[in-house]
Amino acid sequence: MRRPRSLLSVAVTVFILLLSAVTAGEVPGTADDVRGNGRCHALVLLYHRIAISTPDEPAALRSNTVSPRAFAAQMQYLHDQGYPIVSYGQVVSCLADGVPLPKYAIVITFDDGYRGSYRHALPVLMKYGMTATFFVATSVVDSGTELTWEQVKDLDAKGMTIGSHSRSHCYLTGVYETVLIREIEESKRIIESHLGKPTEFFAYPFGDANKRVIEAVRKAGYLSARGTNRTEFGRQENAFMVASVGVGDSLPGLIKIVKRCYP
Ligand SMILES: [Zn+2]
Repeated sequence: MRRPRSLLSVAVTVFILLLSAVTAGEVPGTADDVRGNGRCHALVLLYHRIAISTPDEPAALRSNTVSPRAFAAQMQYLHDQGYPIVSYGQVVSCLADGVPLPKYAIVITFDDGYRGSYRHALPVLMKYGMTATFFVATSVVDSGTELTWEQVKDLDAKGMTIGSHSRSHCYLTGVYETVLIREIEESKRIIESHLGKPTEFFAYPFGDANKRVIEAVRKAGYLSARGTNRTEFGRQENAFMVASVGVGDSLPGLIKIVKRCYP
């Protein structure tokens, strides 16, 4: 496996943004940590909104926003350094079946369903031949300002993976069973009805999950679910709590995350 060349509806949207907090953790990587059975090493990057922030936006909104320019620089960095961009499904195959991942594997994910992920991120991903996974909250799609189902279908057609991020993006550990099931199962069914293929992956809104939520996701037929804010974000051990790390609005910030994971 080649080594990287160096050492390597608006209210709903605003609500989601305000509540979506992402932080970076830390873990020293090891060179041979590339196999399944608890030894799947992949850095899963988490993006929310790709857009140009304005000074009047709330701080929480700005902190979840990466500018199109910074995103392009980040992807160019990963490309130029030779980091293998793998699909979310490859991480799941590693965890479930022990299918090895390439060394220094990186996964790109987008949460919530912001239109900027289509308008600004997709062209950059296409330019570098990268794949990514888009976890959409189905109530956001076609709500007015964010992704449309046409765009979601186009993402799928262009080789991206579409996952579910629930229906209304609520805290799943705090809802009644019937709501829980609806959030998890209905979102799956809605996406499947638009794409005509199985929706296999879920991402917990706010990373909020417990045993009950995880069991409901598993029972609904998902093969995996991604969490957030894990300290050991590069070492994947659980297909229903795949660790990820939020990326901020700068290239140095991304480099710091990558070097922590793959020193
Ligand atoms: Zn979210």
